[in-house]
Amino acid sequence: MARLPFARSQVTQVFGPRDFPQDPFHKGIDFGSGVSVGLAVPVASAGIVIGSGQSAAINFWKEVDHGGGWTTRYHMLGSSAGPGIGDRVSEGQTIGFIGPKFGVSTGVHLHFEVHNKNQSRPGYGSAVDPLTNINNIPSPGVPSPEEEISMIRIQSPGRGSALIGPGFFRPLRNAEEIEQSTPVILRHVNGNDRQFDIWRALAVGG
Ligand SMILES: [Zn+2]
Repeated sequence: MARLPFARSQVTQVFGPRDFPQDPFHKGIDFGSGVSVGLAVPVASAGIVIGSGQSAAINFWKEVDHGGGWTTRYHMLGSSAGPGIGDRVSEGQTIGFIGPKFGVSTGVHLHFEVHNKNQSRPGYGSAVDPLTNINNIPSPGVPSPEEEISMIRIQSPGRGSALIGPGFFRPLRNAEEIEQSTPVILRHVNGNDRQFDIWRALAVGG
């Protein structure tokens, strides 16, 4: 399940039209309450970094692809520190750090956007309201950092592949999911179907 980088109560500017000639269509939300320069920004969901840069309007920025046409963007970062283009990120991983008040902005904040490439509206393009769409963003089959501690991947001829950890069992449904799991596992086990079933029972108590 995807999550907002910060709490809803920290939002100081919502999505939508606003009285601000430089940028009348606010394509994201601003988290400007309870944030400070250098604060780590957690990524909304697992994915791959597909964009990173700097501009005179939004300072340093990054974009993460979550699959299914969904991406999230993080503007007003203080530098390019953190994951770069092509890096896989897990939900909650630090994507960057909040930068100082920049350009025409009224204060230190994170500007956060959610895009769905299958949607387009005048003034907003593919940007949609993060507050009402955050739960629509897919969570690709990469465990969260808390789950990564003791993950093992088991594979057997009749059962396929799965990630197993304490109280955790997740089948890996295709080659992409298997490949995505590689960076987060302690080790890979090739077993037979009986071993697979025993491991599954040990993991989930059934
Ligand atoms: Zn903004």
